[in-house]
Amino acid sequence: MINIPKGTKDVLPQESYKWQFIEKVARETARVFGAQEIRTPTFEHTEVFLRGVGETTDIVNKEMYTFLDKGDRSITLKPEGTAGIARAFVENGLVNSALPAKFFYITPCFRYERPQAGRLREFHQFGVEFLGSYSPDIDAETILLAKTFLEKAGVKNITLYINSIGCKTCRKEYENALKAYLNQNYEKLCPLCKDRLNKNPLRILDCKNDECKKITEGAPKILDYICDDCSNHLETVKKLLDAVGVEYKINPNIVRGLDYYTRTVFEFVSENIGAQGTVCGGGRYDGLIKELGGTDTPGIGFAVGIERILLLLENTGVKIENPNKVKIYFAPMGEAEAVKAFELVSTLRNSGIACDCDHMGRGIKAQFKYADKIGAEFVAVIGSNELAEGKVKIKKMADGSEQTVEFDQVKSFLEKA
Ligand code: ATP
Ligand code: MG
Repeated sequence: MINIPKGTKDVLPQESYKWQFIEKVARETARVFGAQEIRTPTFEHTEVFLRGVGETTDIVNKEMYTFLDKGDRSITLKPEGTAGIARAFVENGLVNSALPAKFFYITPCFRYERPQAGRLREFHQFGVEFLGSYSPDIDAETILLAKTFLEKAGVKNITLYINSIGCKTCRKEYENALKAYLNQNYEKLCPLCKDRLNKNPLRILDCKNDECKKITEGAPKILDYICDDCSNHLETVKKLLDAVGVEYKINPNIVRGLDYYTRTVFEFVSENIGAQGTVCGGGRYDGLIKELGGTDTPGIGFAVGIERILLLLENTGVKIENPNKVKIYFAPMGEAEAVKAFELVSTLRNSGIACDCDHMGRGIKAQFKYADKIGAEFVAVIGSNELAEGKVKIKKMADGSEQTVEFDQVKSFLEKA
């Protein structure tokens, strides 16, 4: 037997309807917010992620699936959705389209990580990217979209954390203050953070190491350093969220992993899925499009991990209905009856009714067993009497009640049932 690669998962029929539900909620939420679907390739030139995600991030440093193709090009499987979309925005000249351009996507992502619950090597994200607006109301709208999606999906008890990481100018000042503080504690930092200190000190605030956490507790806070413009921007985002009743907590330690974030950053965190508590992360990235060679264009977006949402729903006892079950199963008791069953099934399917009949030449008892296993709501028995009279005996599986229905009345019976 050949096994599935580590960190990947088969989604079997007993799970796939849950995925369909999440994807439907995602599409519907995006639709009412005016976002359109964008699909970019599963792999890009590695350069897209080096520049679009940033060389000091965990993703680029250690998590990418990068390989040379047969033409000796460096190719990388997408570890996240934003960089590819930014590349597509630039390449297709979408700066000349109606702005803000509002995109959403549902995509597999690939990261070479240590697999655990809620952490896979192939996982899936639903995300949005809104490009072209500097206005704080698009930040609030992005956050509201994420919140609406999570609510409609059935997620409860989730905390929204918001922060501003300032702009290029004021962040420099903060970084200097932070570096000065961290330098005093240099010896106690983990090896990774020692390395981060000069490359991307903000990321140290995000370190999961206990010792580093203790040190960063006493660190200078970015909100004391951001400039008036950045501060006003944050205040307006807060005001708009207040206006629509979105609750949030300001958390100066939220910095996000990616390099090109500016101003607003946010995360939705749950206590119900253990260590992998962040189900959604997002923020503003005003420098990204330019970084990828485009006309300076601001942007904001978020991504949620679909596996983590499903885990969260499962851990909090949220049930999702399976809409894909067969409505009616036809159980013929002989050869001539089987032809009739085949015919009836075929007519009902043309009307969009999910139905099935015997394909195994089983006896009636075994057919009922099968119908029960596949979750059929009704079983229609066709014996020789029924065939002669042009009727079926329909049994409702939930309560065992029976009713005799003429062949051409089955459809209207099911519609009323
Ligand atoms: P973490 O801190 O958990 O590693 P991250 O900051 O790397 O998360 P992002 O790059 O912001 O995550 O991705 C957005 C979302 O995608 C996360 O909030 C999470 O729900 C999901 N996600 C990220 N990495 C994985 C993974 N390896 N497996 C499953 N879901 C993931
Ligand atoms: Mg990560």
